[in-house]
This record gives sequence, C-alpha cells and structure tokens, in this order.
Amino acid sequence: MFKRILVANRGEIALRVIRACREMGIETVAVHSEADRDAPYLELADEAICVGPARAADSYLRIDRIISAAEIGNAQAIHPGYGFLSENAHFAEVCRSCDITFIGPTPEAMQRLGDKNSARALARAAGVPTVPGSDGLVTSEEDAVRIARSIGFPVLLKATAGGGGKGMRVAANDLALAGAWQQASAEAQAAFGNPGIYIERYIERPRHVEIQILGDQHGTIVHLWERDCSTQRRHQKLIEESPSPRLPEATRSAMCAAAVRLATVAGYHSAGTVEFIVDQQDNFYFIEDNARIHVEHPVSEMITAIDLVKSQIRDAAGEPLGLTQDDIRPRGHAIECRINAEDPAANFRPCPGRIDRIIAPGGFGVRFDSHATTGYVVPPNYDSLVGKLIVHQPTRREAIETMARALRELRIEGVRTTVPLHLDLLASAAFHEARIDTTFVERWLAGASS
Ligand code: ADP
Repeated sequence: MFKRILVANRGEIALRVIRACREMGIETVAVHSEADRDAPYLELADEAICVGPARAADSYLRIDRIISAAEIGNAQAIHPGYGFLSENAHFAEVCRSCDITFIGPTPEAMQRLGDKNSARALARAAGVPTVPGSDGLVTSEEDAVRIARSIGFPVLLKATAGGGGKGMRVAANDLALAGAWQQASAEAQAAFGNPGIYIERYIERPRHVEIQILGDQHGTIVHLWERDCSTQRRHQKLIEESPSPRLPEATRSAMCAAAVRLATVAGYHSAGTVEFIVDQQDNFYFIEDNARIHVEHPVSEMITAIDLVKSQIRDAAGEPLGLTQDDIRPRGHAIECRINAEDPAANFRPCPGRIDRIIAPGGFGVRFDSHATTGYVVPPNYDSLVGKLIVHQPTRREAIETMARALRELRIEGVRTTVPLHLDLLASAAFHEARIDTTFVERWLAGASS
C-alpha cells in the first residue's frame, strides 16, 4: 500500500480524499493555490504545497507543478478528485512516466472513453443503446441538415470534447440548425480547443440516470446501481438520489448490465460513471462516461456501504476488489443536495465571501461533506460548491423528511446559499411524487409546475 498520496484538488473532494487516507494510515500531501492558502482542510494533510496563483490554469491545472509537488512531497500516488486534471489522459501518462501511480483508470481507457463521439462508437460496439444520431463527427452544415432530417427534429448538437453542458445547442428545424451548428462549433473550439460536433436526437423531458462502476486490475468489474440526477438546472445537477424513483426493475438491471459491458470493453478499472438518459417510455440511451470519482458518489456509498475513494486507492495499489456483484445489495434510499454559495433569488449569482458562522446538521442518517468552517472565505475563483448534504433512510419519503429537517438545521451565515431552493424543491408536489425529469426544475422555477 502507498505510504504517501498527493491530492491534486481542492475543497470538499480534497478533504474527502484526505479523510479516506487518514483512515487507511496513508500520509497526504495537499496542494493549494494562493487563493486557497488558508483553507482549513490543509491542516489535516501531512504537508501542504503551494502550486501557484489563484487562476486554476496557473495552479491546479499545471501538470508540471503538480508533478514537482509530488516529487518534493515524496508522494507515490496522486488522487485527482473530480474536475481539474481528473479526466486528462495526458496527465495520467505523465504520472506513469514519472513512476507516480495515477489513482484512476489507465490513460488508454481514459482516451477510449474521454472523447464523447468515440465513446458512443465503443458503446454501440458493446451493444449499449446510444441516442439516435450521427455516426461520427459532423463536418459541414449540409451534413448536419441531412443527418438531422434523417433522425428527425428537434436535435441536439454536442461537442465531442464537451463537459459541463458547454457547446450543446438544441435545434428545432433546418433554419435554426444552420446557426446552431456554427455557434456550437465555435463555442467548443473556444472552451475545449476542439471544434468537433456530433448530433443526437433531442429527447423530450428525459431523466438523467447514471450507473456507478467499480473495477480492479484483476478483471473484476461491478456496478453499484444507479443515481438519478434529473433534478438539474441548466444541465447543472442540484439533487441526486438512489434508487431512481419510478424506474422499472427490468430497465434498472438492463442499464446496470450495459454499463458493466461498456466498462469491460473499455478495459476499465477504478471508479467511474456511465451516464444515460431515459425517455418517457423508459427506453435508455448512453450519453457519456466519466472516468473519475463523481461529485454525487456519496449517494452510492450510502446505499451500498462501500467506500468508493478507499476502493480507488486499494485498486491503484493493485489490490483485488474482493467483491462480487452479489455482495452489493442496495439498502434504503439516499439523497444528496449540493449546497452552493449562490443566490437562487438573483438568478443563481455566485456569492463568494466570508462564512461568518456555519452549523452543520447531524443525527441519524445524515452526512455533511464540506470543507467550509466558520471564518472560511469562499474564493471567487472556483466553482461555488461549499458542501454536500447527504441523507440515508429506509424509504424515499423518510429520506425527504430527513433532508428537510437537516437543511433547516444547517446554518450558513455571511454568504447566500442554495439551501432555501432545496427546501422549496423538496416541498414541491413534483419532487414528492417523483414527477422529475431534466426540465422540471426550470418549469417549476417559472411557476408552471407545483
Ligand atoms: P456534459 O458532458 O456537457 O455534461 P452530457 O452529454 O452529460 O454533457 O449532457 C448533459 C445533460 O444534457 C444531460 O444530463 C441531459 O440533461 C441533457 N442531455 C444530454 N443529451 C441529451 C439528449 N440527446 N436529449 C435531451 N437532453 C440531453
């Protein structure tokens, strides 16, 4: 097992990894930018190394500086967390060439799955349903129109290098498509340095359901069931839960089996997530694979009692998973609310600043994963996630009740947060009755749904 691990991330996920390492008796090296110099979780690491100024491109994304920090700090492995360098196959390769273990899948598997258009082709080859659409990248406006007509409008244009909903455009007809193709391509080039665009049929009011995968280097791949992340606003997830409400058992098992098939053909190990959308007739379609730990991983941990971060570390050290699919029995219902320093009343404007007081909730079935403490200053330079509140109860109804109680108990003073939004969402009839799809929050915010 490793003696010392460098955590190449910040905020709650850096703390999550440090906690796992402390429990495993592994020392940690934390890295931080100048903006995160005073972050309280740094004290829990055995060493903290500054890797540059606030701008992520000059610090957390600088491969040379992260590698130097690992060498100076004597770390044998690097945990990338999520975001930043976590899905960068080149970084994983550099780690390998420097004899530092990258805690995640191989660079080859990351490459096979990282490009969304290639991942779609791999999924099709593995017999995993994909959204009807183009066979490859669309290289001209004429091509786009021809393909869109053959699959039927509305269509969705997507960036092959995409992430975070950037570079996606819906087009309802030929005319809209011409403009959308130009815009999507330019946006993809600007955001990802790759203008490649492919086309999918736009599925109306889908649910977003993803399967958690876990594999080792000895050929074992299992799934940890699904998470429903349909409660999103502008393609940003707000609430995640497991099991997915209203998903027929046959669909659930077919999705889990499909995810395992894809991970198997991709030569995958470590933790990852296979994302699907499910239409109103319960047909499911693969949309992308994320070869890393997910923000919402605690939901799967709660229902399966498996620590995903520790599993990643053991796998990276070459240990077998020691689990079979039959060992993974989901229990109860888990819900996670992402608590962001944003003002829901002001169009979700980010609200960085000093947290004057924070009181974390507790009690049976409540988990609060947060790096924020009283006096912590939320920097303006990164995403505004200040914590994740997770509950686990025998049923969905009880989980909603516990979440509402815990949200009321959670006090964050000094910055505005999404806590009031979550309370309103949980109280809505649509959420209670699980009439959720990826568009319901926006309709509900507009007052169209109760
Ligand atoms: P990103 O990598 O940018 O997050 P995804 O491919 O994961 O992009 O899609 C993000 C979200 O967009 C999904 O959660 C879903 O809400 C929506 N979406 C993706 N593909 C489709 C589609 N074909 N039809 C309708 N909505 C879609």
